[in-house]
Amino acid sequence: MKIAVLPGDGIGPEIVAQAAKVLGALRSDGLKIELEYAHIGGAGYDAAGDPLPDATLKLAQDSDAVLLGAVGGYQYDTLARPLRPEQGLLRIRKALGLFANLRPAMVYPELVDASSLKPELVSGLDIMILRELTGDIYFGQPRGIRTLENGERQGFDTMLYSESEIRRIAHVGFQIAMKRAGKNGQAKVCSVDKANVLDTSILWREIVGDVAKQYPAVALSHMYVDNAAMQLIRAPKQFDVILTGNIFGDILSDEASMLTGSIGMLPSASLDANNKGLYEPCHGSAPDIAGKDIANPLATILSVAMMMRYTFAREDIAQKIETAVRSTLQQGLRTGDIAEAGKQRIGTEAMGDAVVQAL
Ligand code: NAD
Repeated sequence: MKIAVLPGDGIGPEIVAQAAKVLGALRSDGLKIELEYAHIGGAGYDAAGDPLPDATLKLAQDSDAVLLGAVGGYQYDTLARPLRPEQGLLRIRKALGLFANLRPAMVYPELVDASSLKPELVSGLDIMILRELTGDIYFGQPRGIRTLENGERQGFDTMLYSESEIRRIAHVGFQIAMKRAGKNGQAKVCSVDKANVLDTSILWREIVGDVAKQYPAVALSHMYVDNAAMQLIRAPKQFDVILTGNIFGDILSDEASMLTGSIGMLPSASLDANNKGLYEPCHGSAPDIAGKDIANPLATILSVAMMMRYTFAREDIAQKIETAVRSTLQQGLRTGDIAEAGKQRIGTEAMGDAVVQAL
């Protein structure tokens, strides 16, 4: 298992160090894990004048998987756009062809009070938002701002999905649902679109339905995106895998992350056509708390669990990591972001050590 490790900026190095400890512990369990480090984001700019240095991209291309911390920092806000840290992230996703973005939203019973929803609505929640990441209105051409004959300016974008793009993300959705069915019973995919208004969505719905015929064990339903936004708040546990396009997924995955109430707990994966992936926490570089040993490393550690599941097909190791995280929570260990007022808090390092201990 060759893993490129890109800590990035802000809290990135601290949280990635904890995930590396977990990988180190798995190595002493007999897994052949090779880690190689490189710079990305502001750290890439500082080291090589580029948020995605050539050496970093080459390492990522030569590795089986990439573990990333986060990028961004106030000191880079005045750089020209191509040099900004987030460009490193956008470019590496594109260069690696990462079209499938997986964002689980889980609520551990121990943290149920962190959600702004009633405990009975979210306790035990475990859903997966699968967002197509390289198409849709975010990339469609033409786009721009033009001046009309009457002198008024007009902004325009183009929503596009080709049949092959829909087909490949749909396959990922059905396959994930089948993998998850072992844990949750019936395999379910809810495809989210706006087929009552958009032609792009009419094609999306047709193709997803066609791909579904190859997965008879998976129950497919369709939902309009406005209803899905409402249902995620009304009764989120009705979902298992939500399959959707880039713009709808962008919005719904942020909504779903807030069901859990704790950004420091949420991992993510972005996969290519061969399940090679980039794994990172959903949160950013949190410059306000960087270097203070207070960031929550669990989202990054849980991203390693996703890496074991999706790139290395080691469900056993993925569950081992997730069980260890759960066990630290059951012991009452909390970083500041998930601690109840007045309760004891532990630091980033101590949380990493506790997970390693629980493995
Ligand atoms: P953020 O996610 O970094 O932080 C939002 C809030 O959550 C902050 O108060 C922060 O302290 C807290 N937080 C985030 N992660 C935490 C953790 N693991 N433990 C405890 N608390 C945590 O978002 P932001 O403040 O909007 O952005 C900060 C920088 O991160 C910006 O430069 C932004 O561009 C960048 N960013 C990067 C990514 C990424 O690398 N994928 C994603 C979002 C934002």
